[in-house]
Amino acid sequence: MTPVSKNIGVLGAGQLGRMMAIAGYPLGQKFGFVGNSHEEPSAMLGHIYTDADSVASLLDFADVITYESENTSVELIEEISKTTPVYPSVKSLYYSQHRGREKTLFNELGIATAPFKVVSSESELVEAVEQVGLPAVLKTTTEGYDGKGQFVIRKSEEIERAWAAMDGAEAILEGWVSFNRELSLVAVRAIDGETVFYPLVENHHVDGILRTTYAPALGLSAELQAEAESMVQVVMDKLEHVGVLAVELFETDQGLVVNEMAPRVHNSGHWTQMGARTCQFENHVRAICGLPLGSTEMIAPVSAMINLIGDVGDVVSVLKDSDAELHLYDKSARVGRKLGHINIVADGEVELKQRLTSLSEFVEIYF
Ligand code: AMP
Repeated sequence: MTPVSKNIGVLGAGQLGRMMAIAGYPLGQKFGFVGNSHEEPSAMLGHIYTDADSVASLLDFADVITYESENTSVELIEEISKTTPVYPSVKSLYYSQHRGREKTLFNELGIATAPFKVVSSESELVEAVEQVGLPAVLKTTTEGYDGKGQFVIRKSEEIERAWAAMDGAEAILEGWVSFNRELSLVAVRAIDGETVFYPLVENHHVDGILRTTYAPALGLSAELQAEAESMVQVVMDKLEHVGVLAVELFETDQGLVVNEMAPRVHNSGHWTQMGARTCQFENHVRAICGLPLGSTEMIAPVSAMINLIGDVGDVVSVLKDSDAELHLYDKSARVGRKLGHINIVADGEVELKQRLTSLSEFVEIYF
């Protein structure tokens, strides 16, 4: 075994673990996973431990542990950390998995968020509506993703229904942010504190699920990039974060407003597989293994990622295009399920539009 080789244990065995492994094997790393079945996307890329002792078996194998989801148990990570390094560490996980904690942290660090209030009952929600104002969005504080567990409240008559929709779970009321577009910044921090950033990207959602990412965000200025980087740098240093951190932002007329963060590789960073010198998955692996981080420079002026959701369509046609790349996750088709993605590169925004037009079977164009 060379000094850089590590056995990486991943909690989760979905497409993120799969793509981490695909990026990590060329560096000499090996992978093992904890999952629900041997049919998950990480299958064949390493052993998937599925039985009652799966975490103990993973720890027997692994030199370092990482995870696919911010919904991973904090108690589990605390326990594992006693014997095996875990990156990102428990601090990043603790803040990222609770919308109230992360927004409180952002505000303490001087970073703008929507006004918010955490509520645990309908009467607290009534008070919160008075403070935050309407329209507002009520979300569960934990476990929500792809817009699930959310209720937009436009009139006070809707408060009762909104609270019922939370099904008794603790919730956060967030003031409505009138944004021009949604952006995200994927950053990577190494164990020694070195940090790299990919360009800010522009994200388009359909039914709450990410559909398309444009990299960089169209018309991105150096000032906006610098503003986002300085916000995220402060957060990463405060958390002593190691690995990828993805931060979702709203661009408003008054500047950037942070929505949420994820302490993991992120769907809005998938374009880096084709569009950047080092993809987010390889950089995450480098970071958690104590290796130097790779360049985040783009290899073409623009890039895009198109999610294949529910049904992949005639994806073989994509393979005829030398400026496009297909990634399938080996998942069975189901409504709303992310089954794969297409990455493309182009010489500029005009060509990007042409290329997206030629892929219109898979994507809507947003400019
Ligand atoms: P989230 O799960 O927080 O990422 O929310 C899902 C989507 O709902 C976001 O991508 C936004 O389009 C929208 N959204 C969430 N929070 C707000 C907010 N406070 N104001 C306006 N739109 C929001």
